[in-house]
Amino acid sequence: MMMDSDPNPKPKALVVDDDPSLRLFMSAALKKAGFDVLDADGGAVALDLFVAHRPDLILLDLVMPGMDGFETCTTLRKLPGGRYTQILMVTGLDDTDSIERAFDAGANDFVSKPINWTMLGHKGKYLLRAGQAFKELDRSRSRLAKTQELARLGNWQIDLLNAEFSCSSKTCRLLGFDCRHSPTLDDFVSTVIASQRDQAKEKIELAVRHKQSISLNYPVILPDGTQKHILNQGEILFNENGIPELLLGVIQDVTQLKRAEEEIRLLAFYDSLTGLANRALFLDRLEKTIATAKRNQQKFALLFLDLDQFKLINDTLGHHIGDLLLKKVAARLKRNIRDTDTAGLLGSRQASPVIARLGGDEFTVLLDNIGKPEMVAKVATRLIREISDTYHLEGHELSMTTSIGISVFPEDGTEPAMLLKNADSAMYHAKNNGRNSYQFYKAALNRAVLERFSIERDLKRALANDEFVLFYQPQIDLASRRIVGAEALIRWNHPLKGMISPDKFISIAEESGQIIDINRWVIQTACRQKSRWRSDGLPPISTAVNLSGYKLSGQDIIRTLREALDSIDDNEQLEIEITENVLMQDTKETVSTLQGIKDLKLRIALDDFGTGYSSLSYLTTFPVDTIKIDRSFVMGCTAEPNNVIIIRAIIAMGHSMGKRIVAEGIETEEQYRLMTELGCDEGQGYLFKHPVPPDDFAKLLANTVL
Ligand code: C2E
Ligand code: CA
Ligand code: CA
Repeated sequence: MMMDSDPNPKPKALVVDDDPSLRLFMSAALKKAGFDVLDADGGAVALDLFVAHRPDLILLDLVMPGMDGFETCTTLRKLPGGRYTQILMVTGLDDTDSIERAFDAGANDFVSKPINWTMLGHKGKYLLRAGQAFKELDRSRSRLAKTQELARLGNWQIDLLNAEFSCSSKTCRLLGFDCRHSPTLDDFVSTVIASQRDQAKEKIELAVRHKQSISLNYPVILPDGTQKHILNQGEILFNENGIPELLLGVIQDVTQLKRAEEEIRLLAFYDSLTGLANRALFLDRLEKTIATAKRNQQKFALLFLDLDQFKLINDTLGHHIGDLLLKKVAARLKRNIRDTDTAGLLGSRQASPVIARLGGDEFTVLLDNIGKPEMVAKVATRLIREISDTYHLEGHELSMTTSIGISVFPEDGTEPAMLLKNADSAMYHAKNNGRNSYQFYKAALNRAVLERFSIERDLKRALANDEFVLFYQPQIDLASRRIVGAEALIRWNHPLKGMISPDKFISIAEESGQIIDINRWVIQTACRQKSRWRSDGLPPISTAVNLSGYKLSGQDIIRTLREALDSIDDNEQLEIEITENVLMQDTKETVSTLQGIKDLKLRIALDDFGTGYSSLSYLTTFPVDTIKIDRSFVMGCTAEPNNVIIIRAIIAMGHSMGKRIVAEGIETEEQYRLMTELGCDEGQGYLFKHPVPPDDFAKLLANTVL
């Protein structure tokens, strides 16, 4: 208002009338009511005076020569400041039509001639007050808009009666919409990043349904690709009867705030020297990893690294070089842990491996969802190797080694503190063992890993050194208890360790790819053995060989088989045992490999049936001749009625498709009787015979009933 300079200024009035006497009376009446008064004899002069003096009240005669009252009013309203002036039309006419037109032209009120002079003063003052209030309201509205602009706020609302959505033009601008088309609620949430979009919409809809306030916080991607962070808050507004009427929302661009937060977070959770996670973040992640691992029943490993004799570097070359070295170590850790082949090595894609610097020269690494302990050992070995590579720092050539302690969840602890403590103590073991090495917390794991690595190493020479042998376990016709076949089972006759069972080395051979050569050796040896027994005059029996499931289609198995088959003349007496996981691999290739096996007139057995997916569809899709019911079913069959139900179903199903059914692992007379009753065709197991060397098997064959 005008109050800024003069604390109590008089309001200004402008009287516009072509009749000088009326001007005089009106002026006098207004002066009496406390106004400063100007007057004009027509529209044009009135406009000039308005621009010069900005009166608060205008008394405007309707009928004037030249520019009449209507026109003057309309023009006035468009002048700067013209919106807030109170215009009182003076009309000689009493017809409602003119009054109507006067209001349309923008008048606030009217008085008709003859004028009651006392009332005119009151009316003027009253109008002025109303005008002031209006002006205030308008000002505060524009101030609000300005404030919202400054705070990067936009409005939106949902009418709770008809669920209609609308939003302000600022909202449109904030979200990059074209203001001319009124956006829908779907448009409104379409900018939310995909992963949070449905959730945001659902929350708004819930707020509408339950008439409750909401607060959301999400990143958006605008149509032009810019990214922002939005805080979206909504409140329910009630009408005068207390009925919820509107969900009124405000969105706020909090991108800068978010960035600042991010920076603070960086400072609080990351090590400023290396950029790795600091202890606080590490402990937080460790806790989360524990929770996830518990939920998914997974294992993970905590590696605790400590540089060997780092203090020496600090003492001799100074802290600056020490810091540089720590940075380099951090970089090497990052490079090696983030490596995709680490993820591959660990069996699955890792979320994001956590590498942290706990302080000084101590680092930690979390490897989640680990497979076998040797996988962790391989990562540790690689870290040790990489860290011990020479460093070139400002003209110094340095070498540095590290010792690593490893704790494994859940064996070595289910709480962060325990896992850390045990990894730390394992690290001291590694130091005591001469540094530059790793140790698991559990001695048994160290042994297992060492054993595994030594097997891996020795396995490479086993074939060349002719260390493998095939044992044979008889397959018995259950009705007659006669030997009708033999399953060839591989053994590794290790020069130092003695006989090693296939369970200990087949999976390692699969990982290293040696399984291809081993499979070939097994097929050749079994075929040769078979023909030898024949030429020794023993009764003809079928022989089964196990083919490892590892990438069956990539092994050129058909060629191997064809070559081996030269030594025998009864192909249909050779059976290939495969497991369900083979069938689960690339189906097309597997089908063609299996068909190739059938084309050679060999038989195919599905091994360990019942332990995998045991899908019926396998039996119809693939050319399987024999089903081998897994040992675990046979073992439990006498105690567990459910097993009997399953076995009965497998047999009924298999027989209806014309398949031969073999029960594996029959150990007792009771199991034998039950399997016979259930209608199994054949069986294998310790009750009849353990797997034996070929010569022993020949003796059995001479006396075929067991
Ligand atoms: P599998 O094919 O299921 O072989 C049966 C396993 O059960 C053999 O163990 C056998 O000795 C054992 N077994 C037989 N009867 C009984 C019984 O009554 N009770 C118990 N508890 N066990 C019995 P083995 O020889 O240690 O072989 C283990 C696994 O190694 C085999 O399971 C097979 O998957 C794999 N394997 C064996 N030989 C070969 C081979 O030449 N090549 C490939 N790729 N894998 C082989
Ligand atoms: Ca088998
Ligand atoms: Ca089996």
